[in-house]
Order: sequence, then structure tokens, then C-alpha cells
Amino acid sequence: MKVIKDNKIRRIGIMGGTFDPIHYGHLVTAEAARAEFDMEDIIFVPSGRPPHKHEYEVSEGEDRYLMTVLATITNLNFQVSRTELEREGPTYTVDTLIDFRKKYKDDVELYFITGADAILEIFTWKDVPNLLSSCSFVAATRPGYSREKLNGIIDTIRERYGTNIYYLNVPALAISSTDIRERVRSGRPIKYLLPEAVEDYIAKKGLYGEPMRTRLNG
Ligand code: NAP
Repeated sequence: MKVIKDNKIRRIGIMGGTFDPIHYGHLVTAEAARAEFDMEDIIFVPSGRPPHKHEYEVSEGEDRYLMTVLATITNLNFQVSRTELEREGPTYTVDTLIDFRKKYKDDVELYFITGADAILEIFTWKDVPNLLSSCSFVAATRPGYSREKLNGIIDTIRERYGTNIYYLNVPALAISSTDIRERVRSGRPIKYLLPEAVEDYIAKKGLYGEPMRTRLNG
């Protein structure tokens, strides 16, 4: 018997972030977006050289990439891309989306997923017209996030470019990379905020402060 394939449009999520480090808030966001928008796969894209951050503010790309691989390894629908890490110079989202558009052609709908606070600044990103016409966007919000500022921006974007920007409220985003880095620096626990393999990687490489060798050796 011939199997007739469901010919619905495929959807892929592009999960952009610095992931310094990746934590359960990011993983829950990705899985929630996948379920909510019926996406086939989520591709995590650790940022290369973020144009809006100084080099000293961000850990090495290779460390952030490896932590992202460790965190996503058990989910068959999660992949990690090196596209921004391998690009020369500052990395802009518009170029990343062009790369993925070339890879998937027009038969796939792309969704760029990231934090709502990042999307708040979207009009300062490179090549706004191309950026906003290349895909839909998912703005992940933390508990208590006030949508007021972003609502205005979303309306303007929809009017000018017809782009959809969706909210996704993620309670697990109470976890933040900034808080994790501060915890490591001050010797407070980070257990249960991120996958154990990532915790071990941070300890092994001595990221974010003094190496926590005791965790690994004893
Ligand atoms: P950020 O300013 O470090 O983060 C802003 C907020 O969003 C933080 O609260 C952050 O929480 C959260 N966040 C970041 N990525 C997230 C994700 N994937 N899911 C859920 N929450 C997330 O933002 P960023 O990480 O540097 O940038 C986010 C994305 O926007 C990246 O892909 C970056 O390349 C892109 N971007 C592009 C341009 C440009 O093209 N010119 C400019 C700025 C940003 P955590 O700290 O806990 O992650």
C-alpha cells in the first residue's frame, strides 16, 4: 500500500542565544516552543561574536558550544549549529537566518526563538527589513515580565513587515545565566538549575570564577 505523506508545511525553530551557560530555562523554552508551534526540530545556535557585547563579557565560543551540545544530547529533536562560531567578525542574526533559509529553501517555516528582552532591541539589529521578513519570531518571557514595551514594537513590526512575533511564557526562565555565573563566582550551588554535565563542564574548565574541583574529584 502506498503511504501518502502528510503534506503540511515543516516548521523548524532556530534557538538563538549566548548560552553562557545554557540552563534548564533554555531547554524548557525550546521544548515548549516545539510543542506549541508544532515544530519538527529545534536548532540551537550559540552566538559567535555578539555585536552588542564586549569580548571579555562572554566565554569562549567553543565552551558555550560544547555546553550546549552536552545539554541537548538526550533530545533527538534538538540539534546544535556551529554556523555563528565559524563566521568571521561580529555575528548578526540576519546572516544566520539567510544561512538557514538557503539550507531549508521555501518549503520550511522558520521561527527564531529567543528572550523577549533581546527582541526588545530588534530595531537596533543589522538589516532590519531582511531580518524581519525572513521568519517568524518567538519571544520567551520570564514570570512577571511586563509586555507593555514589547507590545508596541510587535504592532509596529506587524504593520511594517507583516511579521508575526509570538509570546511564550516560560516559568522555568526564572533561571538565568547571569544568576548562574554569579552563583559560581560566589561559591553558591547551581545544582538543578542546569544539566549535570554542564555543571561538570563549568567545574572542569573553571568557568565563571574559581574552579570547583572538589565537585569533580570527590
Ligand atoms: P541577551 O541580551 O544576553 O539576553 C536577553 C535576555 O533574553 C536574557 O534575559 C536572556 O536570559 C534571555 N535569552 C537569551 N536567549 C534566550 C533563549 N534562546 N531562550 C530564552 N531566553 C533567552 O541576549 P543574547 O543571548 O545576547 O541574544 C539573543 C539572540 O539575539 C542571539 O541569537 C543573538 O545573536 C541575537 N542578537 C542579534 C543581534 C544582531 O543581529 N545585531 C543583536 C542582539 C542579539 P539568559 O541570560 O538566561 O539567557
